[in-house]
Amino acid sequence: FMHQLEARERLEALGVLAGGVAHDFNNALATILGTAALIAEDLGPGHPSQPDIERIQASAQRSADLTSQLLIFARQEPRRAEAIDVGAAIRGIEDLLRRTIGEDIDFSCQTADGLPPVILDRSDLEQMVLNLSINARHAMTDGGSLTIRVASLTLPPDATPSLPLPAGRYLHIAVADTGTGMPPEVVRHALEPFFTTKPAGQGTGLGLANAYGVVTQANGHIAIDSEPGRGTTINIYLPAATTTAADPDTSTPARTAPTG
Ligand code: ADP
Repeated sequence: FMHQLEARERLEALGVLAGGVAHDFNNALATILGTAALIAEDLGPGHPSQPDIERIQASAQRSADLTSQLLIFARQEPRRAEAIDVGAAIRGIEDLLRRTIGEDIDFSCQTADGLPPVILDRSDLEQMVLNLSINARHAMTDGGSLTIRVASLTLPPDATPSLPLPAGRYLHIAVADTGTGMPPEVVRHALEPFFTTKPAGQGTGLGLANAYGVVTQANGHIAIDSEPGRGTTINIYLPAATTTAADPDTSTPARTAPTG
């Protein structure tokens, strides 16, 4: 448990640092993009330096995209938190997910009815599920299956805590792939911003860091269950916004790997 606290503090410190850098960097980029546009206009179409200006603009734009990812991670407050039906929200982007991961991956989405809502920003949730699905896709170059499950879960007050969360009602989102899996040292660092095992230009190292940011801001928990050769399941637990005593749980706590 101490291990998890240390990991959390490290990630929080990294978030503050990254947010500060991203903010200043964004201002500098706005100046670069604005000035490049002015020069392009002054030179006029067909000027031999136009391709150079375009390269500057393209590079600055790529950097701006990266910093906006960073600012998502660093943001302390959720943008527009509202009560969301996560199952419905994920079904709403099912087509997008299917197209993004491609034909050779067997994709299924299992969501039960009558699940409790959670308080979350809808686009944060969509971006997170999309990023996790893209990661899964990258881990399955020879095909495989991606399963997204959404279920409810109650952590009873008297039981030995199986998760670092207070007792109560939760929504469990599992994004499971049958890809390469991760060795323990990758699992240990995967949630940190900028940690990537992908070649330069292909990974930002911010997908899981952003998921961590979104989930912890919502007072939830994210855990990586992964093994080389077997695949990866990202387990996300979010506190239920309402408790209705009547509906039964549809999930059991998943085995969790230490993430710190
Ligand atoms: P990025 O995908 O840009 O590298 P992430 O923060 O999303 O950044 O992931 C960090 C690292 O964690 C990846 O580079 C990869 O090594 C590992 N990883 C993440 N998701 C998976 C997955 N589903 N299967 C295997 N490895 C993964």
